[in-house]
Order: sequence, then C-alpha cells, then structure tokens
Amino acid sequence: MASIFSRIVSGEIPAAKLYEDDLTLAFLDINPASRGHVLVICKEELPALLDLPPELVAAVAQTVQRVARAINAALQPDGFNVIQNNGAAAGQTVFHYHVHIIPRWNGDQALIPWKAGQISASEQAELVALVQAQLG
Ligand code: AMP
Repeated sequence: MASIFSRIVSGEIPAAKLYEDDLTLAFLDINPASRGHVLVICKEELPALLDLPPELVAAVAQTVQRVARAINAALQPDGFNVIQNNGAAAGQTVFHYHVHIIPRWNGDQALIPWKAGQISASEQAELVALVQAQLG
C-alpha cells in the first residue's frame, strides 16, 4: 500500500503543493505547527534518512533551502526550524522521508525545546570512540 505521501505524488489525494521537480515535492503540512509549515519529500517512497542514496539526500536538502528562502521572503518570520524525524521513537508518523520547515516568530510556542543535559569528558571520549569506529 502506497504511503499517504506517495498518493500525493501520484495525484490520488490533494495537497497544497508549492514546488516540484523530478525528485522532490514541497507542500503545506495539513496540521501545521505554525503558519507556513511545509513538508519537503523525496518522490520515491523511502522510509527515512538512512534509506536514501546520497544524491536524494542532496536533492531534498536543495529543495529545503529553496523553499525556506521563499518562505522567508514571503512570510518574513523571525526564524525557522528544519526538522526531520526518523523512527516512531523520534516522532515519525509518516514513513516516507520528509523534512519539516517550520517558520517561527518571537515568543511563539510552536515547538517544545529539548532540556539541555550535561556530559563528562569521559562520556564524550566514550561516545567519540563508539561512533568513530563506525565511520571508518
Ligand atoms: P512526522 O511526524 O515527521 O512523520 O510528520 C508527518 C507530518 O505529515 C505531520 O506533520 C502531518 O501533519 C503531516 N501530514 C500527514 N498527512 C498529510 C497530508 N495528507 N497532507 C499534508 N500533510 C500531512
């Protein structure tokens, strides 16, 4: 069964489309966190970041920048967040790769910020060693 976003790509269900090219599509989020909340997807149905070949990651990133620039000019927010959720634990609900662009205005409550933690030098060293071992 095609994802809800594949059904938007095919035109089976409607969306408020903003921009489209061969590889990517941008449209308004149906339940926006703020005015101008946009989703940028890759047209190919791939679940999450680690499933994309590098050229598709780049294509989506370029569309994100292009659309963010247009949102900035059109709506003149004070800032914007670019967010991308991977896995249910991270809040992903549609398993078809997408990036959120969320315009922000001073004092809005659009997103809950994370609580800043602390890390010791030994924990840093352990994490660097663990991840670097996988980077090759
Ligand atoms: P995520 O939690 O990162 O998977 O985000 C999925 C997003 O898709 C949510 O912000 C939804 O509001 C949005 N969404 C789901 N269905 C549609 C739809 N048919 N058109 C536009 N946005 C949608």
